[in-house]
Amino acid sequence: MAEASIGEVRATDEYLHQVDKWSAHNYHPLPIVLSRGDGVWVWDVEGKQYLDCLSAYSALNQGHCHPRILAALKEQADRCTVTSRAFHNDQMGPFLEELCELVGYEKALPMNTGAEAVETAIKAVRKWGYQVKGVPEGAAEIVVCSDNFHGRTTTIVGFSSDDQYRDGFGPFTPGFVTVPYGDIDAFEAALNDNTVGFLVEPIQGEGGVLIPPDGYLSAAAELCRANRVALMADEIQTGLGRTGKMLACEWEGVRPDVVILGKALGGGVYPVSAMCSDDEIMQVFTPGDHGSTFGGNPLGAAVARAALDVIVEEDLANRAAELGEWFIDELQAISSPHVAEVRGRGMMVGVEIKETSGTARPFCEALMERGILAKETHGQVVRFAPPLVITREILEDVLPDIRAVLLGEGVAT
Ligand SMILES: *Cc1c(COP(=O)(O)O)cnc(C)c1O
Repeated sequence: MAEASIGEVRATDEYLHQVDKWSAHNYHPLPIVLSRGDGVWVWDVEGKQYLDCLSAYSALNQGHCHPRILAALKEQADRCTVTSRAFHNDQMGPFLEELCELVGYEKALPMNTGAEAVETAIKAVRKWGYQVKGVPEGAAEIVVCSDNFHGRTTTIVGFSSDDQYRDGFGPFTPGFVTVPYGDIDAFEAALNDNTVGFLVEPIQGEGGVLIPPDGYLSAAAELCRANRVALMADEIQTGLGRTGKMLACEWEGVRPDVVILGKALGGGVYPVSAMCSDDEIMQVFTPGDHGSTFGGNPLGAAVARAALDVIVEEDLANRAAELGEWFIDELQAISSPHVAEVRGRGMMVGVEIKETSGTARPFCEALMERGILAKETHGQVVRFAPPLVITREILEDVLPDIRAVLLGEGVAT
């Protein structure tokens, strides 16, 4: 069998067949094989250049192969990569301090993937409910929202409202109550003495870039405070500058009790996630309660430190705010018979395709033909979420192509 060496180039079809043959079929990617990335750009194995408007679901806020983040990766890779938490390492402490100072919490617990950080938050808040709030053992309830996306573990898919995410994977973890997203009265009605947490995305990314009504998060925070319920914000996709603030909750002046971060925390290079909270919640963990072999490893911690530095020093949140506002205006100005709505905040933008015009998929395929990579979400929505290092000039360059596609040019129906 031929050994594929790095640098060897094969035709796109060969790679597609290989993945079809050897991979589980748990994704439906666009038929494009990428081999290089730089900033907002990626290149496929045939040398064709594309603008990345997905950013690996916002894992790439800092852009592909950011030199500063890669330098941190390489330097740390030569020194020490994994210690496990059986020993200390000289990167985790500085990382956690810098993260906590940046987002304003007393403690952080490092994990790897987003789903793990969500699981960590669920465990912490349940235990806080029993130990601090005094909920009877086994009775803790966490309120979640319809159309949520919090990851793919069995506990998390158990409270998904997407049938496909759940189908065939039960039985599921009890203790979750679902309310409609954006409906504050439904949230209030779901609260009882055993409610310990409210797990919510400030904007639902996978749900289709769904923005709740103004005042929803602040009202929810108020109800949480009054009822001693921990507000748990899943900022894995919305956080770290994406929506034009460091955390999307800042748009409503809300400081959640728990903030869950991932994706861009790893600078588009390495999986790093974390749960942040104050001591009152984090102190429930004692040695042996929770852990991860790779969580807090020095390689990931060094990468995350550089990833945070880039977000701050390149002012990515403000860039997202300014460029996003302009970009959303430009998209809204395209009056297309195929578009039901353009919505977004910062550089998290969704264009909802009318059901009468089919799904968003052929629009994404037509964009790909024009060198723009976007991915449909929830059937009807084309998401535009480029790396935050993008410039207005680049967006101006691609707007005519986006406009043509949204007007239906080259869209297979
Ligand atoms: C991507 C995502 C997750 C899951 O993160 P993984 O790293 O894929 O486990 C959880 N919540 C939100 C809001 C996400 O966008």
